[in-house]
Amino acid sequence: MSARIVIVGTGVAGVTAAQTLRREGYAGEILLLGAEPDLPYRRPAVSKELLAGTAVFDRVLLKPVKFWADNAIELRPATRVVAVDTDRSTVRLHTGELLGYDSLLLATGARARTLETGSARVHTLRTRADVTALQSAVDAGGSLLVLGGGLIGCEVAATARGLGARVTLLEAGPALLARIVPAAVSEVVHALHREHGVLVENDVRTAELAEGGEGVTATVADGRTFSAAAALIAVGSVPDTALAEAAGIAVRDGIVVDQHYRTSAPGVFAAGDVASSCHPHRGVFERAQHWNAALSDGAAAARAILGRPTAPAEIPWGWTDQHGVSMQFAGWVHPHDELIVEGDPAARDFLAVALRDGRPVGAVAMARPRELRAARALIAAGEPWSTELVRVR
Ligand SMILES: Cc1cc2nc3c(=O)[nH]c(=O)nc-3n(C[C@H](O)[C@H](O)[C@H](O)COP(=O)(O)OP(=O)(O)OC[C@H]3O[C@@H](n4cnc5c(N)ncnc54)[C@H](O)[C@@H]3O)c2cc1C
Repeated sequence: MSARIVIVGTGVAGVTAAQTLRREGYAGEILLLGAEPDLPYRRPAVSKELLAGTAVFDRVLLKPVKFWADNAIELRPATRVVAVDTDRSTVRLHTGELLGYDSLLLATGARARTLETGSARVHTLRTRADVTALQSAVDAGGSLLVLGGGLIGCEVAATARGLGARVTLLEAGPALLARIVPAAVSEVVHALHREHGVLVENDVRTAELAEGGEGVTATVADGRTFSAAAALIAVGSVPDTALAEAAGIAVRDGIVVDQHYRTSAPGVFAAGDVASSCHPHRGVFERAQHWNAALSDGAAAARAILGRPTAPAEIPWGWTDQHGVSMQFAGWVHPHDELIVEGDPAARDFLAVALRDGRPVGAVAMARPRELRAARALIAAGEPWSTELVRVR
């Protein structure tokens, strides 16, 4: 009997792992199992092109339809794995079917964190299926309350505004995108939203969210109320660790993995948003939660499964598109870091680099992708900062 590698999760980490296994010459069976009913697609499009209605679903597929047969990868959408038995090396599907594995990759990603309101007017956004409900709520003339000024909250606010909705964005902290950009850049993003007619309120903690008013009403800590036809809760994600936990695999926020993507169970690996690893630049376990990290993790985990050497972890980086403006970010920015800015933030043409002890640790750029790439290389190298080092145009 030939060897079998089972991958749970059809997001970018799982799909890239399956593809890499074949590229690396693995000739055994590959089973790719995903709970979502659709062919694998680019998740970042959910809050952008798909919600805006500017791309049909076929345009955001991760792979062409024929890719799976061409590469002899058995893709099973609408298939939920409900249990893993690490002693017997089996997974059980929602249908009751038992499948054995030689190696198992858990790429189960994350779920949107939510508040239990019981209202059909309150949404979260993570999958293609979530798009339709939110789209009809924000169709022209509609109104939307967005709770949470992180990446997804800001993107949905921008997309909904583009669809003609009246949008109110409520952020509990003092600044938008605070987890990924420094305060000075948050202000640029805030100004962008204001310019496009989004009402942004920072430092507002929602005490209650319930049906009422125009449809749904948020009552915030100081007693003010904000009302709209629908609400989106965008307050972060929780890793989908249920399978791993039930199987007795070590979990701390995400599924704990070493630098070879190995979990605490023999033959079981994890990658992508669900995995918690210790990046050599950080020295703490954390989840990357960006597209590129999930993609490179998926490829590296596949090589690790085959016992091949894996490249050192990349400096995580991501991007966001809001109101037609694209921004890239890399590394780890902390509010206490020294900040160096080249260019003109007000003109949305700049590179901001966060320095710690004179060395770059994080960077954010608008309209300067090449400088951002150069800054990423410097973060990786850990070299002291010199402006000339990134002036590439
Ligand atoms: C709306 C949105 C917009 C984003 N935009 C950006 C962006 O602009 N830039 C950026 O860098 N990043 C962005 N991200 C983050 C990026 O998309 C994620 O980091 C990346 O998709 C994670 O990939 P993954 O494969 O690890 O997990 P996921 O994409 O979460 O995929 C995991 C899959 O596993 C499945 N699964 C879970 N449990 C089971 C089970 N028991 N059985 C079978 N299947 C299971 C899930 O259904 C899911 O399909 C965005 C994320 C979202 C939600």
